[in-house]
Amino acid sequence: MPLFYDLYGMSWQYLHADRIFPVASDPVRDGILVVDVAGKIDALIDPAHSPEDHHAVLLREDIRKVKGALVPGFINSHCHLELSHLKEKIAQGTGLPGFLKSVTTQRQADRELIRQAMMDANKEMEKGGIIAVGDISNTSDSITIKQGSTIRYHTFIEAFDLHPDYAEERFKSALELEAEFISSGLTASIVPHATYTVSDSLFRLIKEHAGHAGMPICIHNQETEDEDDLFMTGEGELARFLFATGKYSHWNPTGQSALRSTLPMLPVSTKLLLVHNTFSQSSDIQFAMNAVPDLWWCLCPAANAYIESSFPPLEKLIQHRSNIVLGTDSLASNTALSVLHEMKIVHQYHPELTFNQILKWVTLSPAEFFGWNNQFGSFEKGKTPGVIQLIDEKSDHGEDYFNATEISRLF
Ligand SMILES: [Zn+2]
Repeated sequence: MPLFYDLYGMSWQYLHADRIFPVASDPVRDGILVVDVAGKIDALIDPAHSPEDHHAVLLREDIRKVKGALVPGFINSHCHLELSHLKEKIAQGTGLPGFLKSVTTQRQADRELIRQAMMDANKEMEKGGIIAVGDISNTSDSITIKQGSTIRYHTFIEAFDLHPDYAEERFKSALELEAEFISSGLTASIVPHATYTVSDSLFRLIKEHAGHAGMPICIHNQETEDEDDLFMTGEGELARFLFATGKYSHWNPTGQSALRSTLPMLPVSTKLLLVHNTFSQSSDIQFAMNAVPDLWWCLCPAANAYIESSFPPLEKLIQHRSNIVLGTDSLASNTALSVLHEMKIVHQYHPELTFNQILKWVTLSPAEFFGWNNQFGSFEKGKTPGVIQLIDEKSDHGEDYFNATEISRLF
């Protein structure tokens, strides 16, 4: 690879691409991205703004012409590496209760098989241009894979148990697991699983801890219509499934939606990510935004299609000017761990949204949520965001790259 060593001994690479998406500013046609050998962004030369610089750099012998588009590395805001071995094991379109039942019964498997599936999933994400992931874990199984990965992981240690008598015990286990991740050089935070699987006592412990730790947290929210029925009336398929487990004798409907019932239990001093929100109503969105100052909404469109055959209320979230990010969820409820595929599904439902708009939800927005925006999320001077090349063989000069046939990480 040709390199230019300037007078100061620094070596730079000049990447000349058909289209560059800096994300923090408008896309640039025919631009040149200047990066150092470690992938740190030095400049983006836009021929429309700096024609002379652009012309001078174009004359360099060491300029590297790259096909297609350059985008910052993708961030997958919601994944469960631990469920990777359930790929193609769970039937599609069963609804959440059917899905939960299948995951519970099939989750146990040979440890080596689980480990291999996680390794494959990690590799798939690396190849797909993903440079950072928010990953839910219930065990320490993923630690070595995360340590050896080029992907930066933040692990959400998931705690759940509806019986208040077990709150202390469950929380203690979560604390131990969190410590194990942190002592392995990884970041982690303890989070409640979902609106309907955590007792008030366990919620309290998690909230108190999150307040001290100051790390981002998340919770699965309104993934099925039955979730609201459960809280409103104690009826519906999810209620029947949960009550049949015999663990819900302490539980009573609140007469309010799942989100309204749960929000008071969640910390407001840290960043909160609500995951799925497939059936969140406009009134819930407004209520939540008033209640939580640093609120984020994660959509997992492919998983919603897989489990519930539905699509989240994106239009309402945009109307409310919500902070939006995207996630793949796990291979138990998705056919691939591809952020680009999630973007494509969003665009199929909302063709009025541009590639650049949706790109923000998998780059700069999640970088802000996870507190990584000094490093990731955009082509801005001083950042090392990963440089991803997208090639669309069918249309090299298009406005969008949803159908990119090749994804390569250049830095
Ligand atoms: Zn999930």
